[in-house]
Amino acid sequence: EVVFVSGASGYIAQHIVHQLLETGKYKVIGSVRTQKKADLFKERFKDNKDLSFVIVPDISLLGSFDDCFNKIGHQIDYILHTASPFFFESKDVEKDLLIPAVNGTKSILEATVKYAPQVKKFVVTSSYAAVATFAMDSDSKNIITEKDWNPITWEEALSNGVDAYYASKKFAEKQCWDFLKEHSEEAKFKLTAICPVFVFGEQLFDEDIVPGHKLNTSCEFINALVHSTEKSPVDLTMFGGYISVQDVARGHLECLTNDNLDGKRLILSEARFTFQTIIDIIRKDFPELTNVSKGVPGSDKKRLADVATLDNHVSKELLGFKFKELGEIVDETVNQILRVERKE
Ligand code: NDP
Repeated sequence: EVVFVSGASGYIAQHIVHQLLETGKYKVIGSVRTQKKADLFKERFKDNKDLSFVIVPDISLLGSFDDCFNKIGHQIDYILHTASPFFFESKDVEKDLLIPAVNGTKSILEATVKYAPQVKKFVVTSSYAAVATFAMDSDSKNIITEKDWNPITWEEALSNGVDAYYASKKFAEKQCWDFLKEHSEEAKFKLTAICPVFVFGEQLFDEDIVPGHKLNTSCEFINALVHSTEKSPVDLTMFGGYISVQDVARGHLECLTNDNLDGKRLILSEARFTFQTIIDIIRKDFPELTNVSKGVPGSDKKRLADVATLDNHVSKELLGFKFKELGEIVDETVNQILRVERKE
């Protein structure tokens, strides 16, 4: 069976591709933006005969998946749509974040019904950002579940990069559910939306860590703490949920085989953290990192007692496997960073 993975060069997508190939059951076609990236990933995956690439240069353009689906669409059984911009810094957030997320999703859905009507399942990598705003999450009276939607409007999203990213995920996911309703005749696939909180864990390939450079947006939070000093500004009020990258990848794979996940929105979160939680783990497990900002050790408990309840027990039960805990995830992330930096 053939699985199409959009945005195959991404942090999460590389783990998805790896896990798909490990099963020995699937052929994988990944989309990347350039031939150079296709060549790089062919080499990284050691010319695996079950892996091939197509080029989709820019998902902002409507119809961006037409050319490649026109050629290979008939082969595809499953689609995992992960490609979407994930960064916060931009001078034109509509052009850089909202339009690519929404147009990319529209384009792949339209190409699916046009050129790949036999596709059985379509999994969209949405986000907890599509579920709740930071304000909703900060109100201790709230209980957030898979039924919640971030209420942000397109206009509100234009004010800054963080709001625009949150909105880009909301509008892209919503479009999938609306598309399925509006095209019930042609769209025969089952849809699942995966909504992960902050995804941490090692890069599939060490080469993605370049000393002195930033990591992907979510892992950069840990990287910045590893390289922090007492003088670094660390926002101890910031908090979120965490999930390991391997568990997010596994969640995508489960959707291919577990029909109970059809039509569902899944929140992938093990538990909550603050930057203090991560600092305390780093300082305990890597005592040699003597410069790392101390913050106020243990203060995360008080902060987390005062935020909304994230109740994703339905998703956890449906997925049925145990998620990794933060200590293990932070250790693996930091170990890889230090291993690469010590080689320099
Ligand atoms: P990455 O930035 O590593 O991956 C994003 C992928 O999308 C890359 O392959 C990137 O290509 C591709 N992409 C972005 N913009 C375009 C564009 N305009 N045209 C074509 N391709 C594009 O991020 P992650 O792996 O972390 O994120 C993957 C998905 O998971 C995203 O949808 C993100 O919103 C979602 N997510 C991530 C979370 C996290 O904490 N990491 C949490 C919740 C959701 P290229 O490599 O060439 O830039």
